[in-house]
Amino acid sequence: MGMPGRVDDHQWSQQHLSHYVEGELRPRARRRLDRHARECVDCGRGIRAMRALVHAVQGLDGIAGVRAPATIFDRVRLAGAGGSPSSQNT
Ligand SMILES: [Zn+2]
Repeated sequence: MGMPGRVDDHQWSQQHLSHYVEGELRPRARRRLDRHARECVDCGRGIRAMRALVHAVQGLDGIAGVRAPATIFDRVRLAGAGGSPSSQNT
């Protein structure tokens, strides 16, 4: 098998897309996701989609003082992380 760790990288990236977009990742994790997303169409697309979502939510936040429900992020995160967002230890 030519590329050990590649699938791991992809799964890890998918799990941390929302953290990445929200700026919650540590610099090292950010770089890892950055590098992976550059060569992975799926994750690149995921980042763009997540950004659009964040923008939309922040946009709502600005309109008439409406608070965007934080549960949106929780839901996205759960969907992406399989329910265990704290499994990022190395
Ligand atoms: Zn990927």
